[in-house]
Amino acid sequence: MHGRKISLYVHIPFCQSFCDYCSFPRIILSEPAILADYLKALEAELHSLRNFLGARTVGTVYIGGGTPSAGGSEFVRRLVDLLVEQVDLTGTQEFTVECNPDDLNSSWAFLRDSPVTRISLGVQTFQDPRSIGRRHTSEQARQAVRMLQDMGMGNISLDLIFGLPSSSIHTMEEDIREAHGLHPRHISFYGLSVDEGTKLHRRVCAGEIKVPDEEKWIGQMEAGRRLLDDLGYKQYEISNFSIPGYESIHNLSYWTGGDYIGIGSGAASRAGCYRWYNPFPPDCYLNLDFSPWESFPPWAEEVEIITPQLLQNEMIMTGLRLKKGIPLESFQSGEHIEEALRTFLASGHLEIENGRYRLTDRGVLVSDGIFSDLFATIDDTDLSLT
Ligand code: SF4
Repeated sequence: MHGRKISLYVHIPFCQSFCDYCSFPRIILSEPAILADYLKALEAELHSLRNFLGARTVGTVYIGGGTPSAGGSEFVRRLVDLLVEQVDLTGTQEFTVECNPDDLNSSWAFLRDSPVTRISLGVQTFQDPRSIGRRHTSEQARQAVRMLQDMGMGNISLDLIFGLPSSSIHTMEEDIREAHGLHPRHISFYGLSVDEGTKLHRRVCAGEIKVPDEEKWIGQMEAGRRLLDDLGYKQYEISNFSIPGYESIHNLSYWTGGDYIGIGSGAASRAGCYRWYNPFPPDCYLNLDFSPWESFPPWAEEVEIITPQLLQNEMIMTGLRLKKGIPLESFQSGEHIEEALRTFLASGHLEIENGRYRLTDRGVLVSDGIFSDLFATIDDTDLSLT
């Protein structure tokens, strides 16, 4: 294991307010004093990793949320300093921080002299971001991108959502063209999902707003993908597009079965043959006894043993998210999954190209259904420890 690369994810579960469509685990940052306690806990958790990390190299770092930038520039600066002090970043190829446009101002100029190499900015739409509960305006989004570029942060990824209430192919294409005009190197292009428990779900059910039906949703997705390609953003994963050479190394490592450690409240980790989750909400995380550990931490929740078979099957599914697909030899993993794959080949949802299986355009459109069918074929050989 030693010498292997590992990805490090730092979860900041705070948001200034909740967006109408969001169902992620997060809490409102109502008491800023919690930030100092949270940093202290992260420091202790990082310290506890030392034995585990051993000679492993941290290949990528990703600070995500929630909204890391909700804590302000001083919080993020202190967090980055902490990582520099506690982790050997000499082999780190990519260091991303997620930000929201309304949090950014000139005090973020420290980024220029930090190890941060990439900013992922939650823009979502240029039409009327506040109509979906975002805190920023479209002008703030434009200003945030320009400000980051003026600071020398050229490697910017923008998140866009299609299928929004009252949207059309025309408004979605306007969003992509606006984004392109700001010259980001990477665009994540996600379809809106109306999840139970969200404000959006309540408003849709109450008939206050309408979201595009399935046919229109698919129409926006197909047109968006074509436009992104025309504008030079090459699709490398179902929802991710980049100027060639600017694919997210961190996320690619997840999708190709790399080990990752997540620290912070609610963060997930997978290393060796274990997968586990840190306690959530932050109140349950802050006072943990972060003692050193070797295989998985004693405070972990939902620890699973991942058998080689399960890992292989998961890699098949995450690998199929990638545009290039996965090598044919990946499929020596059991009768059930092979049978399911043969069915998808026959139905035209999968194809074989250059010695690799990949989703066809038709398969991409119903990828969630394909993945859940494939998941259902996996033998339940993993063993839950807690
Ligand atoms: S900022 Fe992000 S994590 Fe927070 S509520 Fe909005 S979408 Fe969810």
